[in-house]
Amino acid sequence: MTTLLTGARLLDADGSRPGWVLLDGDRIAATGLTDVDALPHATTTLELRGRTITPGFIDLHGHGGGGAAYDNGPDEIRQALATHRAHGTTRSVISLVANPIDDVVASLGVVASLTESDPTVVGAHLEGPFLAIGRRGAHSPEFLREPDRETVAALIEAGDGCIRQVTIAPELPGALEAVRQFVDAGIVVAVGHTEADEHLARAAFDAGATLVTHIFNAMPGIHHRDPGPIVAGFDDDRVTLELVADGVHVHPSVVQMTFRAAPHRVALVTDAMAAAGGADGYYRLGSLNVEVRAGIAHLAGTSTIAGSTLTQDAALRTAIVVAGVDEERAVEAMTLTPACVLGRDDEWGRLAVGYAADVVVLDDDWRVERVWAAGSEAVTELPDNA
Ligand SMILES: [Zn+2]
Repeated sequence: MTTLLTGARLLDADGSRPGWVLLDGDRIAATGLTDVDALPHATTTLELRGRTITPGFIDLHGHGGGGAAYDNGPDEIRQALATHRAHGTTRSVISLVANPIDDVVASLGVVASLTESDPTVVGAHLEGPFLAIGRRGAHSPEFLREPDRETVAALIEAGDGCIRQVTIAPELPGALEAVRQFVDAGIVVAVGHTEADEHLARAAFDAGATLVTHIFNAMPGIHHRDPGPIVAGFDDDRVTLELVADGVHVHPSVVQMTFRAAPHRVALVTDAMAAAGGADGYYRLGSLNVEVRAGIAHLAGTSTIAGSTLTQDAALRTAIVVAGVDEERAVEAMTLTPACVLGRDDEWGRLAVGYAADVVVLDDDWRVERVWAAGSEAVTELPDNA
């Protein structure tokens, strides 16, 4: 069974060109340029004139969507993934908030088995428990702790190879040792939810951390006499910067500046909670109550932002249309760059032969029309307001 997508514009990190893509099973079997390369024969041919085709979006950081939360077991994870998939996300890292270690271990078991059975599940992100109390955001303070060798080893073992990413505040006692311990286990370490100054953030990067969790949010801002972790992240070519481009977490001018200051090192993530792709109202994030009004999630009764209601297609629109980011670079930030972070850039993130059949078809307004993930098309009705 092969599917030929033709008549469209192909857009990925390598540029924009009129062309076609041939999907065969879960891989891209061939691509070519319109009016240059002869169209191959296919079981199904889809004429997509006026559309843009990008690689499937990869979300390094999210907590749920469609009314469902990743901390609540496999059925809710599937429900949330289906919502994000309808908005173009074909591979997701499952972020787990700070919870009692036994609960985190149980969640890791769920994610480990989903990672085996569902190709769209990339693995787990431990966002906590090793976070700074003063920068905890929407993480319960009683579950935060300092990293010790035994706890880190127990988490790595419970993950059974499914932990892709962990967020650590480098100022915690034992944090730099924990960075090395996770990196030695093949896990990407992110600096985040932190009070670290520039010097300490650099020490974490030198210890092996290669990511910053939602840069600008839950960390000290830039001061000209105290540059902090943001400048350290901008300045280090080994480090990728997660950015939440929902128009709320970070001002569009700062989104634009981030893309300019760290070319090819920005990953557009959602940090989405259960209300993403859903309605305003009351939700839970881990053990905390969240109120969503006008699409903005706050810890109930506070002004603390509690994740986003973002989907990656909306992040793409914010980056390109509102912030004025170049379209190739914006697409790169949700395809090839996160694939690089995960060490999978040889199979994800490009419209090229041998890459995964992860494909998004968008209309003129960057709205998602069709999505293939690992070669199969998801048919999901989007609500009118989505
Ligand atoms: Zn998060």
